[in-house]
Amino acid sequence: MTSTAHNVPRTTNNAGVPVESDEHSLTVSADGPILLQDHYLIEKMAQFNRERVPERVVHAKGAGAYGHFEVTNDVSQFTKADLFQPGKTTEMLARFSTVAGEQGSPDTWRDPRGFALKFYTEDGNYDLVGNNTPIFFVRDTIKFQDFIRSQKRRPDNGMRDNDMQWDFWTLSPESAHMVTWLMGDRGIPKTYRNMNGYGSHTYMWVNAGGERFWIKYHFKTDQGIDFLTQEDADRIAGEDGDAHRRDLYDAIDSGNAPSWTLYVQVMPFADAPDYRFNPFDLTKVWPHGDYPLIEVGRMTLNKNPDDYFIHIEQAAFEPSNMVPGIGPSPDKMLLGRLFSYPDTHRYRIGPNYAQLPPNRPRVPVHSYAKDGPMRYEPNRVARPYAPNGYGGPAADILRYGEPAGWQTAGEMVREAYTLRRDDDDFGQPGTMVRQVLDDAARDRLVNNVSGHLLNGVSRPVIDRALQYWRNIDKNVGDRIAKKVNGG
Ligand code: NDP
Repeated sequence: MTSTAHNVPRTTNNAGVPVESDEHSLTVSADGPILLQDHYLIEKMAQFNRERVPERVVHAKGAGAYGHFEVTNDVSQFTKADLFQPGKTTEMLARFSTVAGEQGSPDTWRDPRGFALKFYTEDGNYDLVGNNTPIFFVRDTIKFQDFIRSQKRRPDNGMRDNDMQWDFWTLSPESAHMVTWLMGDRGIPKTYRNMNGYGSHTYMWVNAGGERFWIKYHFKTDQGIDFLTQEDADRIAGEDGDAHRRDLYDAIDSGNAPSWTLYVQVMPFADAPDYRFNPFDLTKVWPHGDYPLIEVGRMTLNKNPDDYFIHIEQAAFEPSNMVPGIGPSPDKMLLGRLFSYPDTHRYRIGPNYAQLPPNRPRVPVHSYAKDGPMRYEPNRVARPYAPNGYGGPAADILRYGEPAGWQTAGEMVREAYTLRRDDDDFGQPGTMVRQVLDDAARDRLVNNVSGHLLNGVSRPVIDRALQYWRNIDKNVGDRIAKKVNGG
């Protein structure tokens, strides 16, 4: 038996008790059976068996970092939110991710990217949980689970399947804008640093006078937009599945802190009812010509996590974390997400997830919530009910109540948004294909779509997909058809 060197810390068990050996179980003689009284061995095995929390059902593979957000322009006429006031700097956390893949999936698969932000404001946490796209595949939250399942694995053979993807998309024409986006260059960003982020939904801002505005967030990368071709992405997927996680970590580690400039589009509250399409429909953008970008500030990511699991895997973003001055809109996707995110965190990392380091607010919490597994922050409430005569806490509707919503009335129905003049599914993707993409980008789009369709998609679904593309743009649809049909 040899004693270890004295220049490294001694190994202890989880209780801090020194352990006898890193290498040998306790046995009856060197060749004999292992003893159950080897508590350290049992602890090691049991802890290992519980090392994983369930992976996120979506956005499982990601990367993240801490940083700060500084306001560079005065937008206080639109919102009283603490983090957007002139001169303010707020600490924050960001997590970027792919959507459909699992924890071990290559970073360079074609997929939208999550763009999830948590701002530690003086009024508690503000979470903005967006994507690198200003739009989404569906506009009613009841279709989200179906959409995701069409992107994941088939129940019979356990494999991903392009036929499922096109089957769902072509039967859901509201997906056309997002699919056009996904199949274009921005479907595979060069790195997380080279993509924009969007709040995607419409949100409400409220100023100090109680005036309401509808807004959309745009975080434009200061590194410049850049993308990978399908060929480069496929190659990198084989060479380095963690390419995007590594790029973000290495950039920050070498002092090359990435940043994004935040702009908002602001729609006067009264414009919404008569705008030419539904401004809360998540499958549409607001044209810049109608609502130009207004600069707000800059977010910089300059601190890598010192423990990936603690700070990034256990990070829990939830669109329901809104601070005074910010509220939801009648976007059916957003309203579903307000429930869904905290619910998945309670399942994935437990009901006290808000006390974990990345999630805990940087201001005192005076919540009436109590107990539950893994709770360790003392409850600062003398009596666990409200109202109580032992010092509260007490809510204050005069200070924190605000016109938190919008007026609505009507029968209970299951119907799509009421159609307006420009509420079609193919108009905006058509504009993108014809007016935003250049010839080379259009060529890559045609190649990406035809390559995808030729990879395991059945004939009836291909036929629907060709019609779907002709609806977006006749010329592009014909070109895809020619490639797919071998013309
Ligand atoms: P604009 O010409 O003002 O805006 C077009 C925008 O398209 C650009 O500002 C850029 O947004 C984005 N873009 C550029 N290249 C690509 C690409 N390869 N793939 C995806 N997006 C790209 O016109 P409109 O505002 O009238 O929008 C026209 C179309 O542009 C829309 O139908 C929509 O498809 C697309 N678009 C519009 C956005 C908006 O919020 N209005 C945002 C993004 C796309 P950015 O600077 O944000 O990267």
